[in-house]
Amino acid sequence: MKNVLRRNINVLLVVFIILFVALIGYLWFVTSTYGERWFVTPYNPRIQNMQTTVNAGDIYDRAGRALLYTKGGEREYISDKGRRTAVSHIVGDGFGLTYGAQTNFAKYLYGFDKNAFSRIEDLVSGNERQGSDIVLTIDAKLSEAALDALGDNRGAIVVMNYETGEILASVSSPNFDPKDMSLFLDGGGESELVNRAFVGLYPPGSIFKLVTAAAMIENDLTDFTANCEGSVVIGGQEIACWDVHGDIDLAGAISHSCNVYFAKAADVVGVREINETAQAFLFNKQLLTGDVIMGTSVYEMTTDETNAAWSAIGQYHDLITPLHACMIAAGIANDGVMMAPKLLLEVVDGETVTYTLKPTTAATPMDDTSLLKQMMLDCVQNGTGSNAAIDGYIIGGKTGTAEIAGDEENAEHAWFIGFVQDEQHPIAIAVIIERAGSGGSNAAPAARKVLAAALDIGY
Ligand SMILES: [Zn+2]
Repeated sequence: MKNVLRRNINVLLVVFIILFVALIGYLWFVTSTYGERWFVTPYNPRIQNMQTTVNAGDIYDRAGRALLYTKGGEREYISDKGRRTAVSHIVGDGFGLTYGAQTNFAKYLYGFDKNAFSRIEDLVSGNERQGSDIVLTIDAKLSEAALDALGDNRGAIVVMNYETGEILASVSSPNFDPKDMSLFLDGGGESELVNRAFVGLYPPGSIFKLVTAAAMIENDLTDFTANCEGSVVIGGQEIACWDVHGDIDLAGAISHSCNVYFAKAADVVGVREINETAQAFLFNKQLLTGDVIMGTSVYEMTTDETNAAWSAIGQYHDLITPLHACMIAAGIANDGVMMAPKLLLEVVDGETVTYTLKPTTAATPMDDTSLLKQMMLDCVQNGTGSNAAIDGYIIGGKTGTAEIAGDEENAEHAWFIGFVQDEQHPIAIAVIIERAGSGGSNAAPAARKVLAAALDIGY
């Protein structure tokens, strides 16, 4: 009887040990494999629960300014409201209503990046877990300048380092104050919580002409010339230009943003070729990186010649996010190498740096962008982008004035994308101002202000 009991106890012990090992194995597997993915949804209740059991880490900008920190067990945002709202889409809110750093990098802030042993140790010992601090790539001061450049308008501005992909500023207007989310928690508000810079899909208008021009370069069609009499009829439909350009070549058509030239070029290049180049520039591709969640830009191949002409000048069904538009300008400036957008510069656990940003390539759409680059420099020197020029610097760019399908009554969206050609200042920018009209008159001056602010800071 005694032996039988002992044997049963031994059997139970073995079973428990197996279960315990299995449990540890399971915890290990789940936290190391799925930990990151669980956190990528802001609706994850674990994040909410963690807020009471973990001393969450602080969030800093690249200059070391605290944007969100834990003080006496409470999460505190910076007191300066202008700065707080300028970075609100990037830092995010504490209720999981937005995809900011608080959600996207929760695994670091709540200590889930630490190894499974130390986590289980914390769990067993009942120690309060200390999350890691994170340093973002953004500059809060530059973010304020970018938000200021948008004024009272709706829109977005993104500034990137085109050699590394680091996002130096990304603002979206209207925005929200993470200190007071009551309006949104009650289900109110309009589109303040939407980060237009990352997920806003806009018709690109004339900034898409860079892609059509790239397709022409890739297919040896740079000699194509056209005559612009102010409009052209394609497939029975009139496509108007904003001016009468006369005989015009590819470089002139980019610099002066000639619709007639590119509408005619569409048939010469072909939608298949434009589609191939658009895909190389990451249209129709899901751009999900660990750092950034962004919308998917659209180029739709069509056999209809009118629509094909419209799509070559950035209308028809073409759509793009401001961040992607910035990546295109950045890729052209960076000799055909599009860097993946990055937001996380460093993770610091106590005194130890546990993560440092490593630049990665998102795509290499072209081997040689020197022609496109030259055309963009001309556009700012002599063309529609002249309002983006800054004394003492070489600026390249492309304007866009995008019509909104089904809403021809209101003003168009104003676009400018561009870059500083300077190894010491590898900055690219995208500006969209909703319903502001001409890109050259409205978006280019905003770009100039923000680029000047970035250069002034030293980027
Ligand atoms: Zn024209």
